[in-house]
Amino acid sequence: MNLTVWEIKAKSILSKTGLPDCDFVVNPYIGCRFGCKYCYAAFVGRFTHPNEEWGSYVDVKINAPELLKKELFNKLKGKKKAVIGKLFFSSVTDPYQGLEAKYQLTRKCLQVLVDVDYQGKVGILTKSSLVTRDIDLFQKLKNAEVGLTVTSTGDPISKYLETYATPHEERIKTLKQLHEAGIKTYAFVGPLLPHFVWMEKEMEELLRQLKAAGVGYIYLEHINLSKYIRDRLFDYLKMDYPGELARFKEAQSGEYRKMLDRLLKKLVDKVDLRVAYSQPIYHKDKESWKSLGRRVVGVS
Ligand code: SF4
Repeated sequence: MNLTVWEIKAKSILSKTGLPDCDFVVNPYIGCRFGCKYCYAAFVGRFTHPNEEWGSYVDVKINAPELLKKELFNKLKGKKKAVIGKLFFSSVTDPYQGLEAKYQLTRKCLQVLVDVDYQGKVGILTKSSLVTRDIDLFQKLKNAEVGLTVTSTGDPISKYLETYATPHEERIKTLKQLHEAGIKTYAFVGPLLPHFVWMEKEMEELLRQLKAAGVGYIYLEHINLSKYIRDRLFDYLKMDYPGELARFKEAQSGEYRKMLDRLLKKLVDKVDLRVAYSQPIYHKDKESWKSLGRRVVGVS
């Protein structure tokens, strides 16, 4: 898939968010080259890029660091401590997708936080090994936590669904590297892909690899199959993996949810990993999701 890159000047960069356990999100890019076929952020460009496929365009907010500096300065006015809440990179893009190597917007935004000696939590979630480039900044921040999304042990269907992201084994290595550098880490195991959850041995292997990589805890997430995501994902599966469609459709049933919850509980206990909320995130039932408490749930 070709990539079209637009350099744009954003009007603002610190966005107040309703995401659990998070106060502001910073999205230095609009769109995401990783183009995951289950991505729930794909709706973001439906007005600005209505005829372009998610993953084929990225708007680069070239003024993001300057904006962050300005907006942070305004919000910190009169405060004794440099803190306005928990900041999260990023909610609708991957802050370390390939273009970040060139533009360094995430890095420059983190530098702004280091420069003001930001005291609040700073959360990162990515599928990219490029994140290790910024270990020096994470070490300088008072309270940084870095997460990698890892959804499989790298089977062909999982790779197909996350075409351009860093391969799974590299993500595990990245987590290990961050941990060894003294950075707090977590893993986001989601969405749990319906073809993969039937591979119990591989699921266990994934959890073991995360444990060995030193993550503090993991998130487990059921796949979000709301209409917008479902339509796009099922179109891809129909085209390239029609034999898997039935299993993905079944993932919308209550029975599937119960089966998966039971399996995860068994495996997590066996491997001895701490799970955020003590249970998987389930999107369909928003009320139960909210009642889990205020914790970070990102997109990357
Ligand atoms: S799921 Fe994350 S990495 Fe994948 S396309 Fe969406 S924002 Fe990018």
